[in-house]
Amino acid sequence: MVSISLIFKNRDSLSPAYVPKVLPHREKQINFLLNMFGEAIKRRSHMRSLQLIGGVGTGKTATVKRFSEKLKRKAGEYGNDLKVVYINLRIEGPSRFLIFSSILNKIAPEISVRGYSPEEMLGIIVSYLIEKEKLALIILDEVDYHIMRRPKDKIVYDLTRLDEIAVHEYSNVIGTIFIARNSKWTEHLDKAELSTLGRVQIKFQPYNAKQLSDILEHRCKLSFREGVVDHEVIDFISHVTAKPPINGDARYALDLLFYGGIIAEEKGSKKVTAEHVRLVHSSLCPTISSEDIASLPIERLYVLLAVARALKNAGTPYVHIKEIEETYKIICEEKGIPKIIDLYEVIDDLAIRELILIRGVTKIGIIGVSAEKLLNYIDNIMRRIETAIQQDKRWH
Ligand code: ADP
Ligand code: MG
Repeated sequence: MVSISLIFKNRDSLSPAYVPKVLPHREKQINFLLNMFGEAIKRRSHMRSLQLIGGVGTGKTATVKRFSEKLKRKAGEYGNDLKVVYINLRIEGPSRFLIFSSILNKIAPEISVRGYSPEEMLGIIVSYLIEKEKLALIILDEVDYHIMRRPKDKIVYDLTRLDEIAVHEYSNVIGTIFIARNSKWTEHLDKAELSTLGRVQIKFQPYNAKQLSDILEHRCKLSFREGVVDHEVIDFISHVTAKPPINGDARYALDLLFYGGIIAEEKGSKKVTAEHVRLVHSSLCPTISSEDIASLPIERLYVLLAVARALKNAGTPYVHIKEIEETYKIICEEKGIPKIIDLYEVIDDLAIRELILIRGVTKIGIIGVSAEKLLNYIDNIMRRIETAIQQDKRWH
């Protein structure tokens, strides 16, 4: 049954996957990127690599997606077919093998990856592009997370030296873009990697209240019916989001707006009010980005649930991993899900994702939020995921 909403005009434009056509306050970054690759889509050139650096919700992913579309279109105008390979390393590709097979698969879906080593796959990618006269651009998002987990993978080395494996100097890969939350990730790279990574960095500063308000105004027009969200409410959301601990995460602002709308609808209100937004704000965990939870594989979400539950039951700032293990066993039985064998590896991963804090095996905790709040938050997310699975649609 589809009922007509008095609040929303188009909910999809508030979903995390939606990339708006216009990105206020990111025109400079998009133009810089277009300039950087402007020549490479016209004539053969050596590959370039660069970094996009900025905190959570500063628009890095949205910018790179908008830019990719524009660059593809421009390449087309010059008669060139540009393939843009985008990989989010928090979601896909835990190993070098999987990353390279994913790149190969996205560039040449007709070639089977079976039986090839990662090095061979790179060779195949380059020969394929040359033979078919296609160009490619590789984008690795959340690369800092990957390098923290697997510093010895040397993916930066391989993906910045593709011209070296091409027979005639040019690999047809015009460049590699590495996206990270801060520049510390390069400390894990060796000299050879640093030299080809290059120094070009595009910085994404956190949005201030005025910028957030522009972003929200724009999005409101697309998603809400006229007159449902007053400027005052947008102003309120922008100020809450610009301040610590949220520090300008645009995703948080959009979450406040979206769930504020849901509450208004549930309450049968004709408008989204500041009180609706306050209710959402008090139920979210400001120090944990909703995107980080959304990109967490569901089996790992159950482990995070176990950490929160063990902490709440213990009532202490930290718990021993054994207690987490016990709680986790119970959760698996309750939910009828198979247990993860290597719990230690998952706990480490959650710490690298900055969802939990580890001080040795005896001291595992969380920061910035109470265990109770985290529990409610995870419960909420679980419910959303379960509904989405039922509707055969992941919510992120
Ligand atoms: P990051 O990758 O830096 O964590 P995202 O690009 O995912 O951030 O942005 C978070 C959310 O905010 C996305 O839903 C995105 O569409 C939106 N967003 C970010 N910057 C802008 C902008 N300048 N204009 C409109 N929407 C934006
Ligand atoms: Mg991102």
